[in-house]
Amino acid sequence: MSQIVAIVGRPNVGKSTMFNRLIGERKAIIDDVSGVTRDRIYGFSDWNGKNFTVVDTGGFVKGSSDIFEAEIRDQVQIAIEEAAVIVFLVDVSTGITDLDEEIARLLRKNPKKVILAVNKVDNAQRQMIANEFWSLGFEDTVFVSSISGSGTGELLDLIVEMLPDEKDDTANQLNSAIPKIAIVGQPNVGKSSMTNALLGESRNIVTNIPGTTRDAIYSLYNKFDKQFYLIDTAGIRKKSRVHEDLEFYSVLRAIKAIEEADVCILMIDATVGIESQDMSILGLIQKRKKGIVLVVNKWDLVNKETNTARDYEKKLKEKIAPFTDVPILFTSVLDKQRIFKTVETALQVYDNRKQKIKPSLLNDVMLEVIEKNPPPTHRGNAIKVKYVAQLPVQYPAFVFYCNYPDYIKGSYYNFVENQLRKHFNLTGVSISVYFRDK
Ligand code: GDP
Ligand code: GDP
Repeated sequence: MSQIVAIVGRPNVGKSTMFNRLIGERKAIIDDVSGVTRDRIYGFSDWNGKNFTVVDTGGFVKGSSDIFEAEIRDQVQIAIEEAAVIVFLVDVSTGITDLDEEIARLLRKNPKKVILAVNKVDNAQRQMIANEFWSLGFEDTVFVSSISGSGTGELLDLIVEMLPDEKDDTANQLNSAIPKIAIVGQPNVGKSSMTNALLGESRNIVTNIPGTTRDAIYSLYNKFDKQFYLIDTAGIRKKSRVHEDLEFYSVLRAIKAIEEADVCILMIDATVGIESQDMSILGLIQKRKKGIVLVVNKWDLVNKETNTARDYEKKLKEKIAPFTDVPILFTSVLDKQRIFKTVETALQVYDNRKQKIKPSLLNDVMLEVIEKNPPPTHRGNAIKVKYVAQLPVQYPAFVFYCNYPDYIKGSYYNFVENQLRKHFNLTGVSISVYFRDK
């Protein structure tokens, strides 16, 4: 679930190197789905069976040097409020600087979730010097070398120890049969307006557990025979405009919302179009294998000619390629246009994602497809697929049992995925395809 680990610290202490270390060595790397996420600012990791998301705050500081200190302070503030664990990185080679002291002062307000990681401790001599960092006053202090990897195991052990127990998650106290839907997107696209339009006066806040780091608020929508939880992560209660415009804050909120949700409604502003931040969020939703509905809001502001929506959709699909099997809706929350349609579509995607295809049907259809278009031979040996099985996981995943699975090429994976999409209703959901030995 939304277990966020934020790496904070001043520039050049090694945050991005550490970030890559924490996520890169595991299998759960941010795969660069053809340009979806270029800036590696968040990635997924697991250690001792616990999953968490690592965020590199360094990726968010874009200001010039005279404003970055203020930005770093803001980030630390947000990290205290939003992250489950904070890794405060410092650099043994420079010693303790003024900015380190200042960050430490901010973090000491909540030392229980802070790990001080003294970086660049590459050798025994530096180990000695590193002891001075105990003076910053953090009980959980580790000496690491991001470059060699020494100490990172200990750091990971501490991180997972500090992460809250998933069994205490609010989400686990909800009715798991009711879909959970999140509306995500950049500030000002109309997310709150949509939430208000859907829930209106009858807002029924289901859980609101203040003081926890993961204060997602679930509102139950229950109208016109439809039922779902709408997730808002820390937004309704403290909608502080100060934070709202910071990219770091909106990304943290999006990560939380996505991880809690079964289906995400990604909302963009029709007059702005899809931007790189939206692509990052989309990449995140895909990687987490959550359902997706793309909503182009403020459609009332667009001058419309005959094919406007069709052309707009075509351009949008070119941008989000290769994953284009996504429902796209044009809404105006202001004029109450297609709000209910958005609900229906999200619930349809939920069903698509949860569906279990009958094994006989799956095999009949897919084996025939493969027989007509078999994988290219490997050194003259035909690759034969014997049968197909859907895995018992939360999202559609299929295993094709065959000989020589290692020789199946990426293009054939794409072919099979497209055929699955063609024959079954998988719109709006990421799927996984595997080839394995019988
Ligand atoms: P960031 O600005 O905090 O993200 O820092 P970077 O990850 O970009 O690292 C800044 C510099 O420190 C780079 O030249 C890294 O190669 C170097 N660096 C990072 N970790 C270590 C380490 O453990 N030991 C040494 N000697 N150098 C490191
Ligand atoms: P959020 O930051 O994503 O929650 O966005 P808000 O719901 O606060 O909306 C931002 C602004 O856009 C507000 O002034 C809304 O009134 C306006 N807005 C929201 N939806 C629409 C829409 O469909 N059409 C137009 N013209 N304005 C909208």
